[in-house]
Amino acid sequence: MKYVYGPVPSRRLGLSLGVDIIPYKTCSFDCVYCQLGATTNKTVERKEYLPKEDILQQIVEAYKKKKKNN
Ligand code: SF4
Repeated sequence: MKYVYGPVPSRRLGLSLGVDIIPYKTCSFDCVYCQLGATTNKTVERKEYLPKEDILQQIVEAYKKKKKNN
């Protein structure tokens, strides 16, 4: 899947589904400790960066897959 990964173990929730709703290293900050490295697209522009329909579809698919495997 392109926008969804996991589920991954979570100490608080047991399992957690990762969802990327913005492109890689698009951020309003450029933190020195960022695990992803330096920000390449520093912006505060509000817009739809990725197609929400595709993201939602992948979340539903991940949920169905997890439910089927339980
Ligand atoms: S840690 Fe990385 S992703 Fe998080 S706010 Fe800082 S630069 Fe952005």
